[in-house]
Amino acid sequence: MPSEPSFDALVIGGSYAGLSGAMQIARSGRPICILDSGQPRNRFAAHSHGFFGQDGQAPRQMIAQAGADLARYPNVTFMNTRAIIASREDDGFSVITERGETLHAQKLLLAYGVVDILPEISGLKERWGVTALHCPYCHGYEVKGEQLGVLSVGPLSTHQALLISDWGPVTFFLNGQPQPDALTLAKLSRRGVKIETGLVTALEGDCPALSGVRLEHLS
Ligand SMILES: Cc1cc2nc3c(=O)[nH]c(=O)nc-3n(C[C@H](O)[C@H](O)[C@H](O)COP(=O)(O)OP(=O)(O)OC[C@H]3O[C@@H](n4cnc5c(N)ncnc54)[C@H](O)[C@@H]3O)c2cc1C
Repeated sequence: MPSEPSFDALVIGGSYAGLSGAMQIARSGRPICILDSGQPRNRFAAHSHGFFGQDGQAPRQMIAQAGADLARYPNVTFMNTRAIIASREDDGFSVITERGETLHAQKLLLAYGVVDILPEISGLKERWGVTALHCPYCHGYEVKGEQLGVLSVGPLSTHQALLISDWGPVTFFLNGQPQPDALTLAKLSRRGVKIETGLVTALEGDCPALSGVRLEHLS
């Protein structure tokens, strides 16, 4: 029976973080394997902003370029698969993939990112990364001066409503979250933020364009 593949390092996640880490390991000359399931968090966005030397590049293009850079190192192996189990062994780790392979390594680099769980609002998923955005520094510049809405999903959303008013006029949709306290309301008011207390039931417009928000008013 052939022995199970063994590497000095296994990297789980082959996107920005995983490929950045993998490059340094590759350059040490040690055998390394990168496992990636091909679902980077920003795959819904056409452009990636704020990266040194790469502002405005397409995310897939950046990943492809980093992968091509790494592929020049003969000590690097790529596997397009998902790691489903990782376990500690006496001298390192073992990882089982969804294809059923078992791999071994002395070191394990976890770079599998995060997964966004979007609120159940009609029309939100279809606009994600285009007109429904997660970060003003990544995509705010492109919509500067436009009418903006901030959807409250918890206590930190108030901070975002204050911050995002730097990019344009903001309506803060409470969507069932509690009213901010009086001090915070005064701050929001000074920043020109309008408060909308109804429940957001749908995003409207010729998708992915966004021209309005449908509300259900609480009694
Ligand atoms: C719509 C959108 C736009 C964004 N735009 C920007 C931007 O402009 N600028 C910016 O700085 N940031 C942006 N971000 C944040 C952005 O997602 C990160 O900068 C970047 O993707 C983080 O890279 P990462 O390597 O940590 O994670 P990811 O890019 O999410 O990569 C994780 C990788 O691990 C893989 N993976 C997960 N689990 C496993 C597993 N078990 N086995 C194998 N592989 C696995 C995934 O398939 C994926 O390829 C954006 C996010 C979103 C949602």
